[in-house]
Amino acid sequence: MARASERLAANAGGPFYVDASCIDCGTCWQFDPAHFAPTGSTSHVWAQPQGDAETRAALLALQACPVAAIGTSRDLLALTPADGFPSLVVSLPQGEVHYCGWASRRSFGASSWLITRRRPDGNADNLLIDSPRWSAALARRIEALGGVSRILLSHRDDVADHQAWAKRFGAERWIHSADAEAAPQAEHRFEGTEPIRLDADLLVLPVPGHTAGSVAVLFAKQVLFSGDHLWWGVDPPGVVASQRYCWWNWPEQLRSVERLLDLDVRWLLPGHGRWHNFTPGEWRRELEATLARGRQGPGGEP
Ligand code: SF4
Repeated sequence: MARASERLAANAGGPFYVDASCIDCGTCWQFDPAHFAPTGSTSHVWAQPQGDAETRAALLALQACPVAAIGTSRDLLALTPADGFPSLVVSLPQGEVHYCGWASRRSFGASSWLITRRRPDGNADNLLIDSPRWSAALARRIEALGGVSRILLSHRDDVADHQAWAKRFGAERWIHSADAEAAPQAEHRFEGTEPIRLDADLLVLPVPGHTAGSVAVLFAKQVLFSGDHLWWGVDPPGVVASQRYCWWNWPEQLRSVERLLDLDVRWLLPGHGRWHNFTPGEWRRELEATLARGRQGPGGEP
């Protein structure tokens, strides 16, 4: 629970605030950049929400915060939507992609995603990409959308409450063998560095570098769930591969970036950092710029 007595001085005046318990995970400003922004070491409210729609967005950012560092008045808290997450991000003929909110401190606030889709027989075949923190309220919403049949874990850092989600929905988990010690209960392992086709719309792309067992997941040839391999940066804008946050092998991570050049990604949905919607052909141009910066070392990093 955020404390008004710990309210950071950087917050704009008004009912919403970030307090000193912020761990600077970025969840709030990735989800609601109209009201939250980084300061360099924490987040803060840079603009107070106006009107119902903006207040709803700020309340959902508050709900998503992994450490309850966002506070507001009791009256506004009572308006927190019960149906805010999962929140629809992309709708395609092959299925819909939702942001799960409810970030976990155990994955440093990483984003997790839900793909909802139907098999030809009409039954749901939904997937979680990485794990939100356990929430019975979120589980009820996901159940109404058809539950979860599989959980694909992008890498060792973002497994959070996979045990609780797998148990709740009887879902089978996948993780790369090189990161499997983070989720030894997972029923399946990805192996090697070659792409692994799970079905017509799901391609798993091993991208070792950030960790030895990092994978990206390509849905419907255009939505790339990138874990912490890549994300969208805003200052300056562009795709970021971070040497600063590379925990395993930077030259290997650059080779993993090169292997994604021939995709035509339209949506980049990472674990950390901003999401981004690309125009046709933009992906390759951006990724070539990312590689050029990456070969300069950390000095080329935005
Ligand atoms: S979501 Fe919470 S912990 Fe993360 S940056 Fe925002 S206020 Fe800080």
